[in-house]
Amino acid sequence: MDSAQYQVLTSDQCVVMLDLLPVAAFHFLVLSKKEIDSLYEDIPLLQHMHEMGLEAAKKTGLPTERFDLGYHQRLSQRRLHLHVVSRDYNSPHLRGKFKFKKASS
Ligand SMILES: [Zn+2]
Repeated sequence: MDSAQYQVLTSDQCVVMLDLLPVAAFHFLVLSKKEIDSLYEDIPLLQHMHEMGLEAAKKTGLPTERFDLGYHQRLSQRRLHLHVVSRDYNSPHLRGKFKFKKASS
């Protein structure tokens, strides 16, 4: 399978892809090209990733306020990524352990 078909946007610093196991109607991953160890290591990169995530969200036609954005880094990987998820959280992949707890507002 060619990963290019899942790419939504690219820049010199990151790639925006469709999540292969979406937890909502729209679920993007913003992957930094550079490996970083912590959220605080490269703030301009995080800002750029955030902007790219919002750009991908806009492509859906939904207002960006209808998306949750959250950074994630697995302990086993140094590559930080940003999840951009539409707030419907409606997906067959959302069974069992992948359920999100909704934040109260
Ligand atoms: Zn993740």
